[in-house]
Amino acid sequence: MDRDQLEARILARGKELFAIAGSEKPSVFNKDWWTGKVMDWSMGHEDFKVQLFRFIDVLPCLKTEEMLNRHIQEYFSQGENIPAVLRLGAKGAGIGGRLGMKVLSRTIRKNLENMALQFIIGDTIPKTVKNLKKLRKEGFAFTLDILGEATVSEKEADLYAESYIRLLEGLEQARSDWAAIETNDSELDWGHAPRINISVKPSALYSQANPADFEGSVGHILDRLRPVYRKVVQLGGFMCIDTEMRKYKEIIFELYRRLRSDTEFKDYPHLGLAMQVYLKNSDRDIDLMLEWARQKSLPIWIRLVKGAYWDYEVVLARQSGWPIPVRTIKAETDAAFERSAEKILRNHDICHLACASHNARSVCSVLELARALEVPEERYEFQVLYGMAEPFRKALLKMTGRVRLYCPQGELLPGMAYLIRRLLENTSNESFLRQTFVEGRELEQLLQAPRVSAGSPATATKERVPRSESKSGLRPFSNEPFADFSLAEVREAFTAAISNVRARLGRSYALLIGGKEVATEQLLDSVNPAQPSEVIGRVCQAGIRQAEDAISAAQAAFQTWRDIPARERASYLIKTAEIARKRIYELAAWQILEAGKQWKQAYNDVSEGIDFLEYYAREMARLGEPRYMGHAPGEVNEYFYQPKGVAVVIAPWNFPFAISCGMCAAAIVAGNCVVYKPSNQTPIVGYTMLEVFREAGLPDGVLNYAAGRGAVIGDFLVDHPDVNLIAFTGSMEVGLRIIERAGRTPESQRSVKKVVAEMGGKNAIIIDDDADLDEAIPHVIDSAFGYQGQKCSACSRAIVLDTVYDRFAERLVEAARSVRIGPAEDPANFMGPVIDQAAQKNIQRYIELAEAEGTILYRSGPGQIPAEGYYVPITIVEGITPEHRLAQEEVFGPVLAVMRVKDFDQAIEWANSTRIALTGGVFSRSPAHLERCRREFRVGNLYFNRGCTGAVVDRQPFGGFKMSGIGSKAGGPDYLLQFMDPRTVTENTMRRGFVPIRSEDRWI
Ligand SMILES: Cc1cc2nc3c(=O)[nH]c(=O)nc-3n(C[C@H](O)[C@H](O)[C@H](O)COP(=O)(O)OP(=O)(O)OC[C@H]3O[C@@H](n4cnc5c(N)ncnc54)[C@H](O)[C@@H]3O)c2cc1C
Repeated sequence: MDRDQLEARILARGKELFAIAGSEKPSVFNKDWWTGKVMDWSMGHEDFKVQLFRFIDVLPCLKTEEMLNRHIQEYFSQGENIPAVLRLGAKGAGIGGRLGMKVLSRTIRKNLENMALQFIIGDTIPKTVKNLKKLRKEGFAFTLDILGEATVSEKEADLYAESYIRLLEGLEQARSDWAAIETNDSELDWGHAPRINISVKPSALYSQANPADFEGSVGHILDRLRPVYRKVVQLGGFMCIDTEMRKYKEIIFELYRRLRSDTEFKDYPHLGLAMQVYLKNSDRDIDLMLEWARQKSLPIWIRLVKGAYWDYEVVLARQSGWPIPVRTIKAETDAAFERSAEKILRNHDICHLACASHNARSVCSVLELARALEVPEERYEFQVLYGMAEPFRKALLKMTGRVRLYCPQGELLPGMAYLIRRLLENTSNESFLRQTFVEGRELEQLLQAPRVSAGSPATATKERVPRSESKSGLRPFSNEPFADFSLAEVREAFTAAISNVRARLGRSYALLIGGKEVATEQLLDSVNPAQPSEVIGRVCQAGIRQAEDAISAAQAAFQTWRDIPARERASYLIKTAEIARKRIYELAAWQILEAGKQWKQAYNDVSEGIDFLEYYAREMARLGEPRYMGHAPGEVNEYFYQPKGVAVVIAPWNFPFAISCGMCAAAIVAGNCVVYKPSNQTPIVGYTMLEVFREAGLPDGVLNYAAGRGAVIGDFLVDHPDVNLIAFTGSMEVGLRIIERAGRTPESQRSVKKVVAEMGGKNAIIIDDDADLDEAIPHVIDSAFGYQGQKCSACSRAIVLDTVYDRFAERLVEAARSVRIGPAEDPANFMGPVIDQAAQKNIQRYIELAEAEGTILYRSGPGQIPAEGYYVPITIVEGITPEHRLAQEEVFGPVLAVMRVKDFDQAIEWANSTRIALTGGVFSRSPAHLERCRREFRVGNLYFNRGCTGAVVDRQPFGGFKMSGIGSKAGGPDYLLQFMDPRTVTENTMRRGFVPIRSEDRWI
């Protein structure tokens, strides 16, 4: 193939396409209409565009006139008038006052709904069928996709699957009316393509789809997809499996392979798969799929797309610490599209190509490549989205005769989310359509081959610039990446780590005092809460003698450790982090078995521990530099910190690595020596933390491991006169006892003890009347029941505005019913056992209280809970008001009170009505309400439009006030200060009137 000739033909073809299309503009850009004018304005005014798109997102929830007016003013007026462009067409809006606003609001709503309808073929089956008939008359084939991909429960997933069956039944009746397109064959369009064609977003078919549970996700989606496909096959139709976010990619590919090779369907060829070329490894994906088809001798069908989730993938990667999975240079995506299309066309004997693009260059290159390669016409077709690029699609039809429109159908509510995706796509700077119809680029420029040059402006797109090293010689802090469960190697590493750890269960663990292992006669069995007969390990228990020895050892080590330079102390943390990083799967596996933590939660716990090590190392390097105060000449005032002495660290079981590690690391790096008492429920995880510190070479006595019963050594450690500091995380009851006892100062004591105490939470999430329930429900489920609700940050109160209460409660209950409960080592289980029998009994008592104080909305049935292990049911209770104990007391289990409030004022009042102020959340799309919460919802960590758990070191320094604790936020800039005392040394530098000159001094 002569590439120059090919280029010339692509250019000529492109020009022809534009000539046929003429001067007509796609309706989104047509300034004769309201939509075009508003789009035009938004592309020139980025702030307005953000507000407009956000407003479109919330619009379907604005059920009343009051809500609509309020939101229009909040989004668009900002104290001034609503922009003129939005007023267009609102006759009577100028009359002012309420009446004028009413007219204006109605017009805006109508116009935006019309804009959405432009992209939706019909909201009901009859309307859809009617509009399809028109399209087919114009010569377009179709593929139908049902809007509403956000399914939060299995009930919704069932409904979604059923809606496809209903739709197919509707099409079955209608098809007798449709003559096949461009052929004499009465059955097949173009002589080869089924007339009925649907596209399915697979993740919507299983509400619990989760990359960590690969097999389960594939299996459950298939359970619902199979009947849909069976119906398609029965109708002689076609089904394409759409590709969604990258996290589901491998699941989706596997679905395709399983369905395509299923004995029931393998002789039926009409099954397609969308493949995205914006992914950096798209070439390999396509190669593998083609190889698979050849190996199985099964013809396949690929819809080639660039990909619709570019922004999402970039943001997710950035927030998770992953490499960006999508190409970041637009021309690279365009080049990959052409390269992949060529590969498929060369394999046309085994793979049909659907070229899905609105980019004239991409389309013409496919067209000319196919001709150059002499690919028969029935082996490729062209696809565009309904409502987009209308002149282009008409011209393409004239030119090729084979154009299929991708037609979303369904209700306006999910349609708005779809509308935003399309508007973003149309108005993005990189969009071919924008460049063509708005910026009016030259034809030659638009049609030129995608060229990737180092200086191309697109190269600058948001790739991270490596940050230079700081003064301390350490790279600036960055969080440990989250686990990416879409990667098979990550899933395999978990399975392997769990079986390795399981092979090492049952060992005995000694104490560590002054660098020596100390065995005691008393041993405590630590067990797997999912299977209490499984002993994780037997741990020696410290008595008073060993506690005393540990304090003495810490005191002895302190004499040297405190004078080790801060940077050197910090380097031990960096080494410890490095070791933990290497052992991360193993460390997580211990938690999975000993604490009943799910894969993701366990991994996050270890990575949070690593973050604390890295973060506090840098913080100490910063704080370890003396500061010079004041500017008066003739004196030098040095301000620096010294460690407090012996620190007792009393750790909880719920974040057994992270919190232990955070408290110990802070104390150690600040120069203190530690007596560490792990929780008796998770002493082995505590021991693994000790191991990593030891492996890093921490000197003897700096960290002493004193596992033991609180009742035996707790008070002794707290009361001991040689202890200077107590860092505690745990229940309010124990925390208050520590604070009280630590306040007593016997005569022999040389310093007032410092207590850093993180205590409980009774956290609320407010659900406003305009909240996005598709988002709010999964986040509330996750915040309330993730790790069995055993986090101090967990949501235990959902405060819901009356107008959305019923819908919220109904969907929440169904979502709760959908989650799986069972051992944490199986990634299919969302919820595992609670920590021990005492916790189980305590939670049961609260469930009884819930029955007495309110009405149980939902409780997991006995069939959903394993018989063995410390399990409790998910419980959702309503009818709770602030006076109830359930609204005030921390349960530390999966019990959620749903509280109905009449308005937003009451929501804030109730949210603040506890003694505790740790975390909180608000789901609202009202800028004014969010602004109000910023000031009035008084908690330590407040989250807008996301769950209230999962704080990340440095990004969300964590901790509360009121009865939630005393002390400053962990993982934040003030934390280490609590472990040190500041000192000032002043030197008079003047000798007989002579003063050394320092640049900082102010002489005149
Ligand atoms: C019929 C049909 C079905 C589709 N089905 C799916 C599907 O199942 N799954 C799916 O994900 N998408 C799907 N899409 C694709 C998607 O929705 C967009 O329509 C498509 O990516 C736009 O590409 P284009 O060639 O029309 O426009 P162009 O303007 O040429 O390309 C825009 C695309 O380039 C990519 N891009 C943007 N910025 C950059 C950058 N800085 N660096 C690199 N690349 C960049 C993005 O993919 C963006 O969408 C489908 C499209 C059609 C027409």
